[in-house]
Amino acid sequence: EPKLDGNFERIMKIADGIRRLKVRTNADTPKDAQTARNFGAEGIGLCRTEHMFFGADRIDAVREMIIADNKMDREKALAKLLPMQREDFYQLFKIMDGLPVTIRLLDPPLHEFVPHTDEETKELAKRLNTDYERLRSKVKSLHEFNPMLGHRGCRLAITYPEIYQMQVRAIAEAAAQLMAEGKTLAPEIMIPLVATDKELDTLRGQAVAEVNKVQSEKNVKFEYTVGTMIELPRAAITADAIAEHADFFSFGTNDLTQTTLGLSRDDSGRFLGTYVSHGILPKDPFMSIDQVGVGSLVKMGVDLGRRTKPDLKVGVCGEHGGDPESIEFFHKVGLDYVSCSPFRVPIARLAAARAALIGKKIH
Ligand code: PEP
Ligand code: MG
Repeated sequence: EPKLDGNFERIMKIADGIRRLKVRTNADTPKDAQTARNFGAEGIGLCRTEHMFFGADRIDAVREMIIADNKMDREKALAKLLPMQREDFYQLFKIMDGLPVTIRLLDPPLHEFVPHTDEETKELAKRLNTDYERLRSKVKSLHEFNPMLGHRGCRLAITYPEIYQMQVRAIAEAAAQLMAEGKTLAPEIMIPLVATDKELDTLRGQAVAEVNKVQSEKNVKFEYTVGTMIELPRAAITADAIAEHADFFSFGTNDLTQTTLGLSRDDSGRFLGTYVSHGILPKDPFMSIDQVGVGSLVKMGVDLGRRTKPDLKVGVCGEHGGDPESIEFFHKVGLDYVSCSPFRVPIARLAAARAALIGKKIH
């Protein structure tokens, strides 16, 4: 890690006095959260909980949950994950010490969780003590030709509500534990890949019910909010209806770029360079906000959301949240915060200040 000397602190302080945008970080480990705080992050804007499920001590329980044939088996596997998730959130909340923390509920590319080869399936069958042929056909039935447009994000929770129920319980129990230790915090629960207001209405209701349950079990009250990612064009276009059920929005510009331009975020790098060198696109749209495309949807989402709720808190947590030019755009359209990877936090603080200065000159 770079050493943060007095000059760094001085420059950052000047920038902080000028900027309007808050700067948060994307973090899902205590280490990243701590690094980001050292760099001046003012909260966590995105904790990708799927990253927490790959650990050697968890992946089997996760796979057990994914391949379960019924709710009871799924709940059995989820019960194993609950104490680990509670500890994950407890640690993050503790490090962030009252700063806002947005926990995004599971948004798994399912294919990453299931075994990829017959060998792996065989291994898993042995570890789970289950029939190989049965497991093999289950794994096959889960195959998707286009997982990024598949059974992902909130869709998975519409089919299997018990997954988010476990995560919301873990968040609420961790918060209750910290409250009992004399801390105050207000967790932000975020639902991914929402396309319709009905999805959010349904899942918000379930999340609120679970938090209330934990609060009365533990006899503790804490503030919390439930919001959504805006990362599909339909969500941006219907943001006024979605805002009815959201306490906050966070733009997922990675998926929003993928779905607006119809470009795979995983495979397009190899030809986007040619597009840029031919002047067909000014920049790689995954690196810098495409102002007339994805950017227009962001602006539309902000404006429509705030038509329903004038004080709606709005941020961005896609890669663009750490890109200086994009940050200037986010400042202009009135976002409250950007969230970026820990090491980009200082650049984001400077870029946010620069955006505020440019804004002053224009108006
Ligand atoms: C996004 O889509 O921009 C986002 C932040 O979510 P993820 O990258 O995890 O899909
Ligand atoms: Mg996304």
